[in-house]
Amino acid sequence: MQVAINSLDLLLSLTHHDENYLQLVRPDLVSTLLTFISHSPPSCPIRLERLARSLKRLARYRYNLEPLYAMDFHFMLAERLVWRECLRRRRRAGGGWCRRCAERKELGREVFTEFASLMDSEFGWSLIQLRLQRAEQTG
Ligand SMILES: [Zn+2]
Repeated sequence: MQVAINSLDLLLSLTHHDENYLQLVRPDLVSTLLTFISHSPPSCPIRLERLARSLKRLARYRYNLEPLYAMDFHFMLAERLVWRECLRRRRRAGGGWCRRCAERKELGREVFTEFASLMDSEFGWSLIQLRLQRAEQTG
Protein backbone atom coordinates (compact mmCIF):
# COMPACT_ATOMS: atom_id res chain seq x y z
CA MET A 1 0.00 0.00 0.00
CA GLN A 2 2.82 2.42 0.83
CA VAL A 3 4.29 1.97 -2.67
CA ALA A 4 0.93 2.93 -4.20
CA ILE A 5 0.65 5.98 -1.94
CA ASN A 6 4.20 7.06 -2.79
CA SER A 7 3.53 6.60 -6.52
CA LEU A 8 0.35 8.63 -6.27
CA ASP A 9 2.18 11.30 -4.29
CA LEU A 10 4.79 11.50 -7.04
CA LEU A 11 2.10 11.64 -9.73
CA LEU A 12 0.37 14.52 -7.94
CA SER A 13 3.66 16.39 -7.64
CA LEU A 14 4.22 16.05 -11.38
CA THR A 15 0.94 17.87 -12.08
CA HIS A 16 2.52 21.10 -10.82
CA HIS A 17 4.57 21.41 -14.01
CA ASP A 18 2.86 21.66 -17.37
CA GLU A 19 5.88 20.20 -19.17
CA ASN A 20 4.83 16.84 -17.65
CA TYR A 21 1.28 16.94 -19.00
CA LEU A 22 2.08 15.15 -22.25
CA GLN A 23 3.02 12.07 -20.19
CA LEU A 24 0.31 12.52 -17.56
CA VAL A 25 -2.77 13.11 -19.69
CA ARG A 26 -3.33 9.49 -20.66
CA PRO A 27 -6.59 7.58 -20.29
CA ASP A 28 -5.07 4.99 -17.93
CA LEU A 29 -3.57 7.56 -15.54
CA VAL A 30 -6.58 9.87 -15.56
CA SER A 31 -8.91 6.90 -15.04
CA THR A 32 -6.79 5.62 -12.16
CA LEU A 33 -6.82 9.02 -10.51
CA LEU A 34 -10.61 9.26 -10.81
CA THR A 35 -11.06 5.73 -9.48
CA PHE A 36 -8.78 6.49 -6.55
CA ILE A 37 -10.75 9.63 -5.69
CA SER A 38 -13.98 7.66 -5.95
CA HIS A 39 -12.86 4.73 -3.78
CA SER A 40 -10.15 6.07 -1.49
CA PRO A 41 -10.62 4.94 2.10
CA PRO A 42 -10.96 7.50 4.90
CA SER A 43 -7.58 6.32 6.22
CA CYS A 44 -5.79 7.40 3.01
CA PRO A 45 -2.95 9.79 3.91
CA ILE A 46 -3.45 11.77 0.67
CA ARG A 47 -6.36 14.17 1.04
CA LEU A 48 -9.14 14.24 -1.54
CA GLU A 49 -8.77 17.98 -2.00
CA ARG A 50 -5.18 17.49 -3.09
CA LEU A 51 -6.23 14.84 -5.62
CA ALA A 52 -8.96 17.11 -6.96
CA ARG A 53 -6.58 20.07 -7.21
CA SER A 54 -4.30 17.96 -9.41
CA LEU A 55 -7.21 17.07 -11.66
CA LYS A 56 -8.25 20.72 -11.82
CA ARG A 57 -4.74 21.69 -12.92
CA LEU A 58 -4.96 19.15 -15.74
CA ALA A 59 -8.52 20.19 -16.64
CA ARG A 60 -7.82 23.91 -16.92
CA TYR A 61 -4.63 23.69 -18.99
CA ARG A 62 -5.50 24.74 -22.51
CA TYR A 63 -3.39 22.18 -24.35
CA ASN A 64 -4.88 19.31 -22.34
CA LEU A 65 -8.33 20.10 -23.67
CA GLU A 66 -8.08 18.04 -26.84
CA PRO A 67 -6.62 14.84 -25.29
CA LEU A 68 -9.02 15.05 -22.32
CA TYR A 69 -11.97 15.57 -24.63
CA ALA A 70 -10.79 12.70 -26.85
CA MET A 71 -10.72 10.32 -23.86
CA ASP A 72 -14.24 11.44 -22.79
CA PHE A 73 -12.91 12.98 -19.61
CA HIS A 74 -16.25 14.70 -19.02
CA PHE A 75 -18.09 11.35 -19.03
CA MET A 76 -15.45 9.65 -16.87
CA LEU A 77 -15.73 12.50 -14.38
CA ALA A 78 -19.52 12.41 -14.38
CA GLU A 79 -19.75 8.62 -14.04
CA ARG A 80 -17.13 8.22 -11.32
CA LEU A 81 -17.82 11.28 -9.19
CA VAL A 82 -20.79 13.45 -10.10
CA TRP A 83 -23.39 10.75 -10.86
CA ARG A 84 -22.08 8.24 -8.34
CA GLU A 85 -24.68 6.17 -6.56
CA CYS A 86 -24.79 6.29 -2.80
CA LEU A 87 -25.51 2.86 -1.41
CA ARG A 88 -26.37 4.30 1.99
CA ARG A 89 -28.80 6.86 0.58
CA ARG A 90 -31.88 4.66 0.72
CA ARG A 91 -31.27 3.80 4.34
CA ARG A 92 -30.71 7.37 5.45
CA ALA A 93 -33.50 9.47 6.86
CA GLY A 94 -34.57 11.91 4.16
CA GLY A 95 -32.69 9.97 1.46
CA GLY A 96 -29.77 12.44 1.29
CA TRP A 97 -26.23 11.61 0.20
CA CYS A 98 -23.84 10.35 2.83
CA ARG A 99 -20.95 12.68 3.63
CA ARG A 100 -18.47 10.53 1.71
CA CYS A 101 -20.52 10.64 -1.53
CA ALA A 102 -21.47 14.30 -1.11
CA GLU A 103 -17.80 15.24 -0.78
CA ARG A 104 -16.85 13.32 -3.95
CA LYS A 105 -19.76 14.74 -5.90
CA GLU A 106 -18.73 18.26 -4.95
CA LEU A 107 -15.10 17.65 -5.95
CA GLY A 108 -16.32 16.19 -9.25
CA ARG A 109 -18.45 19.27 -9.88
CA GLU A 110 -15.50 21.54 -9.16
CA VAL A 111 -13.27 19.70 -11.67
CA PHE A 112 -16.15 19.62 -14.14
CA THR A 113 -16.56 23.40 -13.82
CA GLU A 114 -12.87 23.94 -14.64
CA PHE A 115 -13.09 21.71 -17.69
CA ALA A 116 -16.40 23.18 -18.85
CA SER A 117 -15.16 26.77 -18.60
CA LEU A 118 -12.19 25.91 -20.80
CA MET A 119 -14.41 24.04 -23.25
CA ASP A 120 -16.74 27.05 -23.32
CA SER A 121 -13.88 29.33 -24.43
CA GLU A 122 -13.10 30.31 -28.00
CA PHE A 123 -10.38 27.64 -28.01
CA GLY A 124 -12.86 24.97 -26.93
CA TRP A 125 -15.41 25.99 -29.53
CA SER A 126 -12.83 25.83 -32.31
CA LEU A 127 -11.88 22.34 -31.10
CA ILE A 128 -15.51 21.21 -31.31
CA GLN A 129 -15.86 22.76 -34.79
CA LEU A 130 -12.74 20.93 -35.97
CA ARG A 131 -14.03 17.61 -34.64
CA LEU A 132 -17.42 18.14 -36.32
CA GLN A 133 -15.73 18.98 -39.62
CA ARG A 134 -13.60 15.85 -39.38
CA ALA A 135 -16.68 13.77 -38.59
CA GLU A 136 -18.50 15.20 -41.63
CA GLN A 137 -15.52 14.49 -43.92
CA THR A 138 -15.19 10.90 -42.76
CA GLY A 139 -18.92 10.39 -43.07
ZN1 LIG B 1 -22.74 7.43 -0.04
